Amino acid sequence: MQDTIPHWLSKQADISPNCAAIQYANGYQITFQELKEQSQMYAKKLATWGVKEGSHVAVLSTNKQAMITAIHAISYLKAVVVLLNTRLTNEELTYQIKDADASFLIYADELKVKAVQIPCLNKAVFEEIDNYHEHADIVLTTEIQLNTPFSIMYTSGTTGSPKGVIHTYGNHWWSAIGSALNLGIHSDDKWLAALPIFHVSGLSILIRSVVYGMSVYLLEKFDKTSVQKAIMHEGVTIVSVVTVMLQQLLEELGTDRYPTSLRCVLLGGGPAPRPLLEQAKEMNVPVFQSFGMTETASQIVTLSAGDALQKVGSAGKPLFPAQLMIKDPDHSGVGEICVKGPMVTSGYYKKREATNKAIQGGWLATGDLGYLDDEGFLYVVERRHDLIISGGENIYPSEIESALAGHPAIKEVGVTGISDTKWGEVPIAFIVTKYRLTLQEIMSYLDEHVASYKQPKEVYEVDALPRNASNKLVRSHLKQIRGKEGCKQLR
Ligand code: ATP
Ligand code: MG
Repeated sequence: MQDTIPHWLSKQADISPNCAAIQYANGYQITFQELKEQSQMYAKKLATWGVKEGSHVAVLSTNKQAMITAIHAISYLKAVVVLLNTRLTNEELTYQIKDADASFLIYADELKVKAVQIPCLNKAVFEEIDNYHEHADIVLTTEIQLNTPFSIMYTSGTTGSPKGVIHTYGNHWWSAIGSALNLGIHSDDKWLAALPIFHVSGLSILIRSVVYGMSVYLLEKFDKTSVQKAIMHEGVTIVSVVTVMLQQLLEELGTDRYPTSLRCVLLGGGPAPRPLLEQAKEMNVPVFQSFGMTETASQIVTLSAGDALQKVGSAGKPLFPAQLMIKDPDHSGVGEICVKGPMVTSGYYKKREATNKAIQGGWLATGDLGYLDDEGFLYVVERRHDLIISGGENIYPSEIESALAGHPAIKEVGVTGISDTKWGEVPIAFIVTKYRLTLQEIMSYLDEHVASYKQPKEVYEVDALPRNASNKLVRSHLKQIRGKEGCKQLR
């Protein structure tokens, strides 16, 4: 069969058995050979527990070795891993486990309190499985069929209910290949993973590691000191971050500079304010913006090394195996970003209607608005649903957010639209400040940076912005915090 390849972990263990697959801050490391043996042993124990081909096995964990072993073990049984966000509420977890038809749940010991409250037929802490004997008759797979499912992972639920995205082996494979064709693979590469493995941005690092034979430097969670230390002293060459992480890293770096061995800071997951990108450029931090989503198995559009400096603010061009088109562009060229490629999911689990709406003729309508410049570089503008139309003019909340975020006293900002009898809709802003700021100061700053018709008609100071379990701003919830305690109206 054409779409069959050797099992990727077994293959890498064969090619580079003694190469470090995963390294930890405490000095512990595991080679590809050890990772294979450990995963295969775990697979045989999972088989004794009852996991078999086609089983859906949910995993609830922060970044840990046991989690990685379990993910590979599940694949050796041709079962499907359902990755759960540890920050979800019990209600949300219950929904996802049920929706994904997961009949097994494995979890990290410290999440026991959460796990015991979630209904699932079979539940165990990672270590409990270690006590099972290895199934005597089970035959582990030696091959991978690229068109079969590897994982189910839920979207962040920023615009509605999270949807279970099915990722096949092929989706992950092509995502890894697309990234390699853009960034290249260097023999000394070490990719720092501080993003959660339960997100596709984290999981995709593990897959790249296995496909390239590359070491991953794994942190259980992001903390700026550990990341900076790893970049400065542990030979990390690539690190994946989201905007808030980049903000913190630049703060931590101060007047210092990263060594030249750091060749890529891959930024994705959401919009990046322009002032932050300019600051990174000034500090010689090699930021590569990217655009992607759960449905595209991580980045599908990325700025390449050669273009990173000239095209600040752009998410780049579609990766080699991918295509991009802007649907129904308006007079300024802004329309819905649609993408196609072998890394794009073939659909949402059990959601045929949502799948058919999102994917037509292989093209995924991302729900995001953007435009291409005259050299074909993508600029992501806004989520379609967040667009504010005021007096017939399009106003993009992220443009106002990006401008306000440039003020030194503003720590976080969220902008949304409310209905208005005169203009149809008008923008309003919510800010979290680092230090006291008067309305006058805000307005004169806005006068300098934002045209008057785009200026927020109401401004609120709040302690925190509404965010989901992926720490993404949920703009649709902003309106609801008006008038609530802790929400102070400045304008
Ligand atoms: P849901 O689909 O459930 O509403 P979500 O879209 O936030 O949640 P993810 O798949 O985690 O779930 O996020 C993908 C989204 O992140 C993209 O559709 C886009 O809106 C945003 N995003 C990713 N990269 C960028 C970028 N470079 N610039 C702006 N937005 C981005
Ligand atoms: Mg989405």
